[in-house]
Amino acid sequence: MSMNQIIQQITKSKRVLLATHIHPDGDAIGSLLSMGLALEEIKKKVQLYNESVLPAVYNFLPSIHRIKDDAGDLEIYDTVIILDCSDLQRVGNAAGAISRIPTIINIDHHATNSRFGNYQFIDPKASATTELIYRLITAMEIPVTTAVAYAIYTGIMADTGSFRFSNTTQEAFKICHEMVRHGADPHKVAQHVYETISLKRVKLLNMLFDTIEVSENGKLSIMTLTQNMLHATGTSITDVNGLINYARRIENVKVAALLYERASGRQLRSPNGSAFHVSLRSDGSVNVANIATAFGGGGHRSAAGFDTLGTLPELKNELYSISDHL
Ligand code: AMP
Ligand code: MN
Ligand code: MN
Repeated sequence: MSMNQIIQQITKSKRVLLATHIHPDGDAIGSLLSMGLALEEIKKKVQLYNESVLPAVYNFLPSIHRIKDDAGDLEIYDTVIILDCSDLQRVGNAAGAISRIPTIINIDHHATNSRFGNYQFIDPKASATTELIYRLITAMEIPVTTAVAYAIYTGIMADTGSFRFSNTTQEAFKICHEMVRHGADPHKVAQHVYETISLKRVKLLNMLFDTIEVSENGKLSIMTLTQNMLHATGTSITDVNGLINYARRIENVKVAALLYERASGRQLRSPNGSAFHVSLRSDGSVNVANIATAFGGGGHRSAAGFDTLGTLPELKNELYSISDHL
């Protein structure tokens, strides 16, 4: 599907809902803000929606308060734009209701995108979804405000791990250069997103370090995060963003897994087990999207995830059996 068809459709829309995945990262939040605020520039009525608590590190982004966890009456929207989601279910509880909005536009950079919706703008080569939004906005000749510049810059910075991951391309730098020209201050973004860490987050990190296990061949590391650890430190899941990278940086490790026990299932040792979210990261030599897809999830080559039910020992055993083939 050509970019022109998407642009034509967006131009026809009047009331637009914008949504992204639960537990949003910098790219998800940056995508919501940049697309939403750009559409407002061309006089569209927009609502920015995300059902999760947003990580506090992004509170500095201009207009962050515009993102609401309640989209109100969904019947008023003619169009919904789903951003940075490999499938529609990723938006969370409202996915069913949102799927009834007449026109669904899917803008994303996951190789595993299910191609849901009436219109798709998907490019797995894009470093971030905000890179695709930059392309749309420039093609539509919408002026880039400072708020939009901050949002696009933050999305690319977050998804490239501060320009260190393998998706760090010339294009990523070129767009970020443009965004800095339009008023985004890289030092300010870095200060907020990486250089400020609460004491309780440090305590949580300490607990997480204690759970690290490495497979016999040394190629897989596993971190475990329980609800008890969040309670004991007074932290929430938004404080966990990025901590898996410590497990990935361990010498010889090719794949790191973070097993997160969801709030719905407290009894880790119960015979029926609990609900887990598993985050996977690789050093680039292994495609973890394939592993995540085999478990019903998805993602990118170096960062992927899935949701599963089971007991902790079962889950670890399944992952250790994969480590033999790494
Ligand atoms: P996470 O480890 O949850 O931060 O996710 C890493 C990457 O995997 C992101 O690009 C997500 O979009 C993707 N991902 C995580 N969980 C799932 C899931 N249950 N289904 C599909 N994709 C997922
Ligand atoms: Mn994302
Ligand atoms: Mn992304």
